[in-house]
Amino acid sequence: MTIVDIGIPKRLVEFTVDGSTVRVPEGSTILDACAAAGKEIPTLCYGDTLEPANACRVCMVEVEGSRTLVPSCSRKAEPGMVVHTDSERTRTSRKVVLELLASAADLSTTPEVARWLAETGADPDRFGPDAATVAQPAIVDNELYVRDYGKCILCYKCVDACGEQWQNSFAITVAGRGFDARISTEFSNPLPDSACVYCGNCVEVCPTGALSFKREYDKRADGSWDESRQTATTTVCTFCGVGCTLTLHVQDNEIVKVASPHESSVTHGNLCIKGRFGWQHVQNR
Ligand code: SF4
Ligand code: SF4
Repeated sequence: MTIVDIGIPKRLVEFTVDGSTVRVPEGSTILDACAAAGKEIPTLCYGDTLEPANACRVCMVEVEGSRTLVPSCSRKAEPGMVVHTDSERTRTSRKVVLELLASAADLSTTPEVARWLAETGADPDRFGPDAATVAQPAIVDNELYVRDYGKCILCYKCVDACGEQWQNSFAITVAGRGFDARISTEFSNPLPDSACVYCGNCVEVCPTGALSFKREYDKRADGSWDESRQTATTTVCTFCGVGCTLTLHVQDNEIVKVASPHESSVTHGNLCIKGRFGWQHVQNR
């Protein structure tokens, strides 16, 4: 007999989003409710497998009665709440936040950002050529993944994935203060000299491509990375008995990336070094 856990039944919370009545299970966030209603709220630091970090401030919405805008990724829906996602205040906030982020970091490989910049009318160049940036050379110190911190928006997702929320390796953390704050290994050591076990779970959650798999980095550099020509095949890792679900991204008959579905109850999108990187033997490179 198969026993399916359907969880504890939850009460529905009824509230208003942009004039429409929405009902969501108790405990849902405003972002959850908007997603269920088909309403897009831009986010960068939100991760569906991570606790909200409230770092990027892109998803701010207006709640009537609240003095400040609230982060929709972490604010729970409450009965009778009246939410505005597209008011003058939210549009101005989103525009300025995107301008600040895009002027400081290279967001050229961040999905959707170009569209959000256009839709909000954001102009990251308006701060002039002397605006402070985090531009710096990419760090290529191992064969598995690249750290390009010129693209980092300090969303903390990699730190959370490496630390207590998933991997518990604590190989990376936030160092420095203010604009000098940065993601770093202990004593800024090269990755091979750090506590990193190369699970790649930080790369999986990085929203900007600041962390990217070496194969993808190399193919982007030579102009051959093309997601429109990639297929995704779901299979099961054969390395051990856990049976993690793998998604093999294949381009030109070559595996170029391995991920795992975030909704998998076994992996929640996470893998170990074997599942993530142990596929080179199946192709002649
Ligand atoms: S690859 Fe894994 S262990 Fe290494 S820094 Fe990333 S999350 Fe941490
Ligand atoms: S490296 Fe990526 S995941 Fe880590 S803080 Fe920077 S943008 Fe976020």
